[in-house]
Amino acid sequence: MNSQDTPHRAGRRALLRAGLTGAAALGTGLTLSATPASATPAGARPRPGTPDEALRELAAGNLRWRTYRERHPDESPAVRQALATGQHPFALVLGCIDSRVPPELVFDQGLGDLMTVRSGGEVLDEAVLGSVAYGVLELGIPLVLVLGHQSCGAVKAAVETDVSGAQLPAHIQYLADQIRPNIDRTKDGAARVDATIDANIRAIRSRIAAEPDLAAKVAAGELAVVGARYELTTQLVHRLS
Ligand SMILES: [Zn+2]
Repeated sequence: MNSQDTPHRAGRRALLRAGLTGAAALGTGLTLSATPASATPAGARPRPGTPDEALRELAAGNLRWRTYRERHPDESPAVRQALATGQHPFALVLGCIDSRVPPELVFDQGLGDLMTVRSGGEVLDEAVLGSVAYGVLELGIPLVLVLGHQSCGAVKAAVETDVSGAQLPAHIQYLADQIRPNIDRTKDGAARVDATIDANIRAIRSRIAAEPDLAAKVAAGELAVVGARYELTTQLVHRLS
């Protein structure tokens, strides 16, 4: 699946590399002893309990999505009822607000599967950081995925106004201000926007991973904080190294 990456991204590890085997592993009845039985209501799938299992499930779901084989899991009446008494999402996705990149769709997941936090350009503020921390520390989610995407308008606006000096409307300017330090000035034009999308994902991933409470969980092997990018043209999610 690396063949679907554009050449300048050839060095990245594809999330989906694990996904092919992940789909098979899920089919053989992965046991998740760390997850309470209540998290697996009748008709629901086993819950990924480790960072690797969570990554494999997201990869498998993205494979279904981009090959038009979605299962639309965890929408049944039984699942809806079971979720009324609690939630045990297995991954937290911090994504952009872009209407073309809804996490539940591009990873083919359902109710109770993903905790999603979204802001323009995945920009962090106290509310976003608090939401991520809530998912990890209070709900025990083993994977935080920072999901940027091709043709991100927030990143494009930040790059363009950095060049032009133009001011954006009040709260939109905040987004640009947060993205600006991540601008890749080694490139120009559309290539600068594209490279900055990646640099922005990496910077946000690093910032989250450096939070002391989260870093301790990463060190203990209980949490992974991963950067990834969604390609609008191929619908592939691939991991950024
Ligand atoms: Zn965007």
